[in-house]
Amino acid sequence: MKILIVEDEIPMLNGLKDNLEYEGYTVDTATEGITAFEKITGDVYDLILLDVMLPGMSGMDICKKAREQGIKTPIIMLTAKGEEIDKVLGLEFGADDYITKPFGLRELLARIKAILRRTPSYSGNADSSQITLGKLTVNFKDYTAVSSDKECKMTYKEFEILHYLYKNKNKAISRDDLMSEIWGMHYEATTRTVDNFILKLRQKIEEDPNKPKVIHTVHGIGYKLAD
Ligand code: CA
Repeated sequence: MKILIVEDEIPMLNGLKDNLEYEGYTVDTATEGITAFEKITGDVYDLILLDVMLPGMSGMDICKKAREQGIKTPIIMLTAKGEEIDKVLGLEFGADDYITKPFGLRELLARIKAILRRTPSYSGNADSSQITLGKLTVNFKDYTAVSSDKECKMTYKEFEILHYLYKNKNKAISRDDLMSEIWGMHYEATTRTVDNFILKLRQKIEEDPNKPKVIHTVHGIGYKLAD
């Protein structure tokens, strides 16, 4: 899960970044409005924390313009006391939620989790839950996989890896990316762990695991899912 934090108060930004990374999120940051808007339109995030008062371009304008461009990523506005929060929500600006500074980390995390739970993942344009990959039909919502009309047993981690590759299909994903995304920052994984999981996935997906057509090896980087 990738979160963009847009905040011009550096201590606040760093505090949020550290804490969200500790929670296992991948974090990108921007401290100014125009850069933030470029990141929002040029990259893909699962959620955006967006400060209202920013140099360059206000959080409200960023939110509104992003929605005009069809970007559906959930946005939580970070507002200061006294700002007109009723305008933040709803159709006018299209934010999903707001939180008033100063806020507690636990409250913010709860809001983030609530929003992520009710929205499909956007770091990838794939929100259909049932897909066919090689000889496997996978449902990412209920964690089931079927191969030649039989249930194929997959572990939770295997589903997560496959889902992440699928959300980023046709892009090369590094082993490090997979480790931080799937195992979080408390690495109990090594690059070899990743390779072993890919090996197992290939045995379940590929017609011929020795000549993979779904999960490709990208030499020197990692893996890529092609469809
Ligand atoms: Ca600010």
